Amino acid sequence: MTTVYLKPHKEESLKRFHPWVFSGAIARVVLDAHHKGDAPEEGKIVAVYSASKEPLGVGHWQIGSIAVRILAFGVEELPKDFWQERIKAAYQVREALGLIHNAQCTINNTFRLVHGEGDFLPGLIVDVYAETAVIQAHSVGMHVSRKEIAEAILAEVPQVKNIYYKSDDTLPFKAPIEGEKTGWIKVQNDDVQCTKDEFWSIENGLQFRIDWLRGQKTGFFIDQRENRALVERYAKDKDVLNMFCYTGGFSLYALRGGAKSVDSVDVSQKAIDLVNINVAKNFPKAANHTAVAADAFEYLSKQKSEGRTFDLIILDPPAFAKHRDAVKNALRGYQRINAKAIEMIRPGGILFTFSCSQAVDKEAFRLAVFSAAAQVGRKVRILHQLHQPQDHPINIYHPEGEYLKGLVLYVE
Ligand code: SAH
Repeated sequence: MTTVYLKPHKEESLKRFHPWVFSGAIARVVLDAHHKGDAPEEGKIVAVYSASKEPLGVGHWQIGSIAVRILAFGVEELPKDFWQERIKAAYQVREALGLIHNAQCTINNTFRLVHGEGDFLPGLIVDVYAETAVIQAHSVGMHVSRKEIAEAILAEVPQVKNIYYKSDDTLPFKAPIEGEKTGWIKVQNDDVQCTKDEFWSIENGLQFRIDWLRGQKTGFFIDQRENRALVERYAKDKDVLNMFCYTGGFSLYALRGGAKSVDSVDVSQKAIDLVNINVAKNFPKAANHTAVAADAFEYLSKQKSEGRTFDLIILDPPAFAKHRDAVKNALRGYQRINAKAIEMIRPGGILFTFSCSQAVDKEAFRLAVFSAAAQVGRKVRILHQLHQPQDHPINIYHPEGEYLKGLVLYVE
């Protein structure tokens, strides 16, 4: 196996189970005998040692500033049954949380099975929708290992019969990648018509069309499950605006909660088509829902010029900062969009506002929202501080995994 030796004293973070080896910490790389070329191939398993040759762990080699993502600590090779053991451990956590039901359950059959570093599987996401698991690789190593991962899921997760692989938007492009980045790895049950365009997943009793082929991420944003349920509690008799609605998650909960009206807005027409399909499926008689494809900033400006206001607004934008160097601009963006929303809330109304940018921490986000409130001169109180749910756990040794934060504000 290819071996990586670290510079003196660079082993400390690995001994504290932080899973990344930065390229600057590496003293030298010794390539294995069958190796072609003069550097490790991206995605290959390598063994990492300290300067004094102490084994630190094995992991996937990557091109870039993170050179190795550790899979197993303190060993010299990947343990036999590694994938199965890790998938089993991830499954057991969800089982302990009460999130696992059979695929036919009419209350909930949707959960995240693997949340990257949070499940000690850096670079891997797996979401389960009834009988289908969707695997998403964020590293070439996970791409290379995708078939073993699929086998481990089929062996360990009883309700999963089908595996879809969806990594066309998430794989880094630093090296040529072999094999398909998207497609079915396994289909054992065609009854659910998962290969066709007719698949429904259930979350808290609401049905959502999952578009495996064209949908964003793995098809749905499971991370907002609990926060959507909170919107349902506050929606009664309210005029609700769900901004950045995607397939209408928050909208369906607001409708079930007895909202007077719900407006769903997203820039993507495909998303808006799915919102309409989801509303029609769950509330065939609803006459109080409107879905519009529009840019958020333009939409809010137009509504304001027409004097429109709302009792409850949800702002769940995409990550404004994808990298650390984009944080400043992102914070300006959060301030702008929140100021526009706060202005349009009726006295005594509520704003649910989120940031899913990993690079923007809780305090910085709160400061941006504070600046927005101050800018428009409204009296604002924080009612709830929201975050990602339990099936998106944060590895205590990898605090960077905390990405979703939200505030529920009471606006006087
Ligand atoms: N709240 C959703 C998830 C939102 S994801 C849920 O519960 O499922 C962010 C959404 O913002 C995406 O659907 C994306 O299409 C949309 N989006 C991105 N830029 C936008 C813009 N400028 N205006 C409106 N929507 C935008």
